[in-house]
Order: sequence, then structure tokens, then C-alpha cells
Amino acid sequence: MTGNTLADLTTLRLGGPIAEPLRLHDPGHWPELVRTVHHRGERRPLVLGHGSNVIAADAGHAGTVAVLDTRGITAEERDDGTVLATVQAGHPLADLTAWAAAERLAGIECLAGVPGTVGAAPVQNTGAYGQQLSDVLDHLTAWDWDTGLLRTLPARACRLRHRHSRFKDDPGRWTVLTVTVRLTRGPAAPVAHRPLAEELGVRPGGRPPVAEVTRAVLADRRRRGLLLDPHGHDARQVGSVFLNPPVTAAAAARWSAAGCPVRPDSDGRLRASAGWLLERVGCRPGHRIAEGIRCSPHRALTLTAHDGATASGFTRVLADLAARVEAATGVVLHPEPVAVGGAPGGRPGTVAARRAH
Ligand SMILES: Cc1cc2nc3c(=O)[nH]c(=O)nc-3n(C[C@H](O)[C@H](O)[C@H](O)COP(=O)(O)OP(=O)(O)OC[C@H]3O[C@@H](n4cnc5c(N)ncnc54)[C@H](O)[C@@H]3O)c2cc1C
Repeated sequence: MTGNTLADLTTLRLGGPIAEPLRLHDPGHWPELVRTVHHRGERRPLVLGHGSNVIAADAGHAGTVAVLDTRGITAEERDDGTVLATVQAGHPLADLTAWAAAERLAGIECLAGVPGTVGAAPVQNTGAYGQQLSDVLDHLTAWDWDTGLLRTLPARACRLRHRHSRFKDDPGRWTVLTVTVRLTRGPAAPVAHRPLAEELGVRPGGRPPVAEVTRAVLADRRRRGLLLDPHGHDARQVGSVFLNPPVTAAAAARWSAAGCPVRPDSDGRLRASAGWLLERVGCRPGHRIAEGIRCSPHRALTLTAHDGATASGFTRVLADLAARVEAATGVVLHPEPVAVGGAPGGRPGTVAARRAH
């Protein structure tokens, strides 16, 4: 018994025993990590960044867990006024956005304060306030565990969509090692998110300085408990537990009339507020939902873990809430965090969206 657990590596602090994880600090040691995994007779490891978007199995993980902790940004100024920034996968995304704000580089200011690593950002096309990684991704390098090759994937090959990518379609096959984003010197990218534009005193599409947008985003995240404070009441969370569901134009009109916020996503689909739908079935900020699981005091869409919580309990709560929303509204909610852990070389899965009957 080593004493290591998935709970130590995840922000929900749930998840059972594992062997000593392999931590990659030096990008040059990647081939050694690959050899170690194969020597253990495994096809691929379970790869984690900061564990801020996973529900890790109570049973732990029987195979190798690799934690990417590589850091560094290399910037290359181009003649067209853009800067290509190549970032190591383990670099904290929040540090990258802080660096960009200090350098007055636009394109990722709305991602300020999002927990997690840069390498995980392409997995779910991390996004916030109307901006997402796909707006700036130029290319990335990734290890393909199926072929044993290091590949350079241009942005379009990553098939980034709203909180989705080819990496989610084929979980575990690719390990992202570096991410190259194209940033622009000058004012912020046009502010698409209406409430953020209002907060900034600009029209939607306005372009305030990058630092102003960064400050406004961080202030709003702080108000909504979406900055991960390891000592705060909301410390054990994975952010939003459900994706905002896509709705037809007719349904959007109906839901808007009922008071539900509906916004277009980056793929042009209308999405209703999952938080509003959860409140309709009684999931209110601050409420206890089940043993060790509460709604964040700030918003219904964040569930927090407390003493007595288990991963299976958390997953059951998500299935139960989705079933209640579907019964009350006909809208199907899909969980945002992914289930990890289990058999060696096993595929991380999606968390069951509906209660099993
Ligand atoms: C308080 C809070 C607020 C949040 N707000 C937002 C938000 O506004 N927008 C948003 O999109 N998300 C948000 N999230 C979710 C989360 O921060 C992002 O999904 C983040 O990109 C996850 O990064 P991570 O390093 O923690 O990934 P992990 O949780 O460690 O991993 C997530 C998935 O990616 C895989 N993975 C990790 N690293 C790699 C890699 N290098 N190569 C291949 N696969 C990899 C893992 O196997 C797993 O399947 C929030 C989470 C919290 C806790």
C-alpha cells in the first residue's frame, strides 16, 4: 500500500488507491515515461493535469497514472502582428492568461482564472464568457498511444467544438504535450458575452484593453465561486457539472419567455442555461443534495463535495438530477466532467447522463 490516491490528484478530492504516479516535469523525459508504461505491459496510462474536470473512481486505478507538470512558454513574434505562443502541457492555464494580459496579448483573456492545465484545454475546448481555445489554437503536439508516434495536429485536425474535441471522442489515445496558440497584440478580442460586455460598459463586440477584460472576468468568477480557492467552502468542485443543453429555436423562444437564459454557442447552436433548469427541479444554491454533496452557495450548476462524499454518490446525484430535469422539462442534460479510473489501460468514460433503470 503506497498511500497514493486519485483523491490527491483531483479537485473533488475523490477517488481511490493508485500506485505512485509518474510525474513529468521535464518534457525531455517523455520517452522514458512511454517506456515505463510499456514495460509495465500497459497500452497507455491515465493522464491527468490538475484533475479539475474529472470524477475519479472510488476503486482507484489499477494502471499507471501520469501527471503532466511540464511548464514553460516560448513566444515567437510574427510579421503580421501576432504572437505564436507554444506552451508546455502542464503549464497552468490561469498562468498563461496572466502572462498574456501582462504582455497585452489578446485572444484568451476570457479564460482568465479557469483552473487546470493548458494540455487539458484542447480536450474539452475549454471556454468561458463566449471565448474558447478553438478561437486561438494554431496547432498542438500529441503522443499517439495507438501508433507510438509524436504527431503535430493543426487546429482543424483537433475537431474542436463546444466543450468537445476528437480527444473526447477517443479518450486516452492522445496525450497532448504542447499547445501553440496565436495571440494578437492590441485590445481584447471582441467581447461576445452580453453580461460581460454590460459589466465592462461596452456594446457586445466592443474591444476594451486586455487587462480590463481579465480583471472583469476574474471579479465575476470570484463572485460566482469559480476561482478555485483550496481553502474556501467551494474548494472541492469541478466547476459546472452539466453542459448547457442545445435547444431548437422554438424551444429557445419558449424557455426565454419562461425566464431561462439562452445563448448561442461558438458552433452557432442555441443553448439553455443548465443552472436555471436545475433550479426548476429544486437544486438551489447552498442546498444539501445528498450525503456529502451540496450545491455551491453561489450557483446551482456547481456541486461541491464534503465529508462523506464518494465518486459513486456524486455520479448518482448527476444521473438523478438529469433524470429529474428530463422528467420536468423534456431537456436532456449531459455531465461535463469525465469519469476516470478503473482497469489498467481502460478508457476514461463519460458520466452516465441518465439514471439506469
Ligand atoms: C472552479 C472551476 C471552474 C471551471 N471553469 C471552467 C470554465 O469556465 N470553462 C471550462 O471549459 N472548464 C471549466 N472548468 C473545468 C476545468 O477547469 C477544465 O476542463 C480544464 O481544462 C481541465 O484541466 P485539468 O488539467 O484539470 O484536466 P484534468 O481534469 O486533469 O483532465 C481532464 C480530462 O483531460 C484529460 N487530460 C488531461 N491532461 C491531458 C493531456 N495533456 N493530454 C490529453 N488528455 C489530457 C484527462 O485524462 C481527462 O480526461 C472549471 C473547473 C473548476 C474546478
